[in-house]
Amino acid sequence: MKTEAFRQRLVARMEELVRRAAQTGADLRREGEPLSPDLDEQAVQLENDEVLQGLNDAAKREILQVKQALSRVVSGSYFSCTRCGSAIETQRLEAIPYTDLCSDCARVQEREARSAVS
Ligand SMILES: [Zn+2]
Repeated sequence: MKTEAFRQRLVARMEELVRRAAQTGADLRREGEPLSPDLDEQAVQLENDEVLQGLNDAAKREILQVKQALSRVVSGSYFSCTRCGSAIETQRLEAIPYTDLCSDCARVQEREARSAVS
């Protein structure tokens, strides 16, 4: 039952993300509003594109994560940390339904990501 509740949340999240990616994708292709002939307006539109592109990328990244989480639901490994194998805290899954790491491993990974950047 618990798994089913998470699965439903993931599916709902996926639908929302797919909608968002489709919408930002359509906006980026200017399906609704063509690029303005006015240069000032164009500058605003292009700036807006960067924001849209960011949203579009973020949605696509999250879609991948949600997809992976759904396949972990199917394979029965949804509640296991992919890094250390221990159980992912329910509280953490409620906050981030697509996570595949327990909070300890997430902290370690975050530290690694930070030291890779700096
Ligand atoms: Zn772990």
